Amino acid sequence: MTTEQLDIVYIEKIRAMEKEILNSYPETDGFSLKRDTRRKKPVMNLKLREQVPFLCFPKLSACSQVEHLFTTRLGGVSEGRFWSMNFSSKLGDQRERVLENFQRIAGVMDCRVEDMVGTVQTHTTNIFRVKEGDRGKGILRDPELWELDGLVTDVRGITLVAYMADCVPLFFVDPLKNAVGIAHSGWRGTVQNMAGKMVERFRVEFDSRPEDLVVGIGPSICQDCYEVDEAVAASFLNALGADDEERKRIAQSGIYPMNAIGEGDTEKLRSVVESGKAEGKYQLDLHLANLIFLVRAGVRPENIDVTDICTAENSRILFSHRASGGKRGNMGAFIKLK
Ligand SMILES: [Zn+2]
Repeated sequence: MTTEQLDIVYIEKIRAMEKEILNSYPETDGFSLKRDTRRKKPVMNLKLREQVPFLCFPKLSACSQVEHLFTTRLGGVSEGRFWSMNFSSKLGDQRERVLENFQRIAGVMDCRVEDMVGTVQTHTTNIFRVKEGDRGKGILRDPELWELDGLVTDVRGITLVAYMADCVPLFFVDPLKNAVGIAHSGWRGTVQNMAGKMVERFRVEFDSRPEDLVVGIGPSICQDCYEVDEAVAASFLNALGADDEERKRIAQSGIYPMNAIGEGDTEKLRSVVESGKAEGKYQLDLHLANLIFLVRAGVRPENIDVTDICTAENSRILFSHRASGGKRGNMGAFIKLK
């Protein structure tokens, strides 16, 4: 078979597995996962373990010392707008249900809820190094970790947690120094270079070299769905400055579709800020912005997986703040050093 034929067989196999998983939840009503159609092949994998579906990255899965996953809405016990796998009790869901959802993920991750650590996220770029004594903080123990949007650790068995519903989850692994990290990067975190600050923090804490880091940019709202006003668009153009070099490197690596949005002009590289569908509005690419900051910080594009799944387009099975008008729960991004 040719490479092209093998690709078709591979894609069909992935589709069939996805369909089987999703169809086992009658609530999905036959919904199938929508992916970025400009990708040649699916990037993230939908898997099922302990009756819980989750999404994961191929490059992080290849790091044998790490367990990671991003949840969907499926497989939990919450109801109503929180159906069913919600990890936030601050939005009105019952705490017992949220804890049961954590319990189910602990089963999937082969860890204990007592070993999970979460924070009160407030769109900062504050990063905290989790140590042995922090086990359970923010989840089973009172939230003592305030205003933190990034976590790193080199302690085995601790699971780092971040919460999302359209914002960008960033997963980090240093396979040489045995350290992991997670970050919550919405537009505020992204424009303030949360991605680059995580890379720097790995260097300071674990003596990590940026070129060794493996990074996953997870499910969040895509450029086509993410409309912003002029002030937000301008803040990105300011923060990114001249980004031609990074965009060329990303285009050459083939990890992200860099053809410009719109007709004609195939030579033009896609920009973080494109003109909006509505007048005076702009379409913002948080994935590309995080990518540029990562490459600028020294991460190799070949070591990065960028999601092909948009939360807003998949709001039947993923929580999306925009698509739900704010009536939603939170998904969880989890990473653990085995
Ligand atoms: Zn989208």
